[in-house]
Amino acid sequence: MDISYIINELAEDRENYFNAVAPPIVQSSNFAFKTVDEMREAFADEYSALVYSRGRNPTVDILRAKLAALDGAEDCLVFNSGAAAIFAAVLSNVKSGDHIVSVDKPYAWAQKMFNVILPRLGVTTTYINGREIENFERAILPNTALIYLESPNSWDYAIQDLRAIAELAKAEGIVTVCDNSYCTPIYQRPIEMGIDLVLQSATKYISGHSDVVAGVLCGNKAMMTRIFNSEFMTVGSGIQPFNAWLLIRGLRTLPVRLEHITKTTHRVVEYLKRHPMVESVIFPFEESFPQLELVKKQMSGACGLLTFIIKATDILQIEKFCENLQHILMAVSWGGHESLIIPKCSGMKRSFFKSENPDHRMLRLYVGLEDAEYIIADLERGFLSLGIGD
Ligand SMILES: *Cc1c(COP(=O)(O)O)cnc(C)c1O
Repeated sequence: MDISYIINELAEDRENYFNAVAPPIVQSSNFAFKTVDEMREAFADEYSALVYSRGRNPTVDILRAKLAALDGAEDCLVFNSGAAAIFAAVLSNVKSGDHIVSVDKPYAWAQKMFNVILPRLGVTTTYINGREIENFERAILPNTALIYLESPNSWDYAIQDLRAIAELAKAEGIVTVCDNSYCTPIYQRPIEMGIDLVLQSATKYISGHSDVVAGVLCGNKAMMTRIFNSEFMTVGSGIQPFNAWLLIRGLRTLPVRLEHITKTTHRVVEYLKRHPMVESVIFPFEESFPQLELVKKQMSGACGLLTFIIKATDILQIEKFCENLQHILMAVSWGGHESLIIPKCSGMKRSFFKSENPDHRMLRLYVGLEDAEYIIADLERGFLSLGIGD
């Protein structure tokens, strides 16, 4: 895979649009035909023709080609959110009476789909600890149709052995879906490990600038054609041309941004590890990470997102730490230019907080594009507000 070619040239037929270096935003809902026969042919197969932008659109097509190539996949569909990509991937592969095996704690809205929407359609889900392959073997039932993976997950970075699970699923005729938002295809390529469908929230690293919500789904041509002709077209959850154009722009700098963030993250992790107020740091490439060996086997990198457990006896200390940061923003999401923090305790009532539970003292930090010194100085400001500096 030549990443430079993919992000700078692939699918950009510049002579068709005035040799413009940046592709045009084809902001048109529909496309006209000269003859009835051409129209008839297009209607028969909207996957292969430009008819209507709920289906295909030329700006979106440029993006699709690039994202498919990055993942080493035959084809790609781009959705107006990562959640929509998850929904299409799962719904298109289950029917009433089917069973799903999912990793525990998948992305919150994937969980909601498994817990609330799919049971209404007669589809049940078993959650398992995905760290052990035996747990998959044990959970698979005769009616299991799909295995849902998220590797790494975005709070404790638990990973699954993608090659082994793909092999197991293939032998049982089960479809595998993997959320690859954390790594992007730059750092992990699940399709090449045998996973059927790989998805990402493009809101994160692909956009990279916190200005688009979008999702990517990649897989083989047969499966993607089927999804296009059913869930994609009926739900109408495709990306809009302007947002697709922003993602093409984001892709231009994806490897450079990840490289920079990787270096900065390393420095931030080192700082946090040494800090007396930090109990532990959870990050996939750390020596202390319990699945380090598997990390090295299937991921070529990791960056940006990490979790640290602060030593606090009281929830107000954690709140004070976060509120005293001047540059690191308290906000959801990640993958953009700006560093972000979420304390786990923001998801619970104060009265529920137990300082004995390290999970309650988790802080998820996203390291953005700022200088390492700038981010570290801000963290130091937070710690100093508690009366204890480095
Ligand atoms: C953000 C996120 C999603 C959902 O993507 P949206 O673009 O917000 O719909 C799915 N999975 C993971 C791991 C995420 O971080």
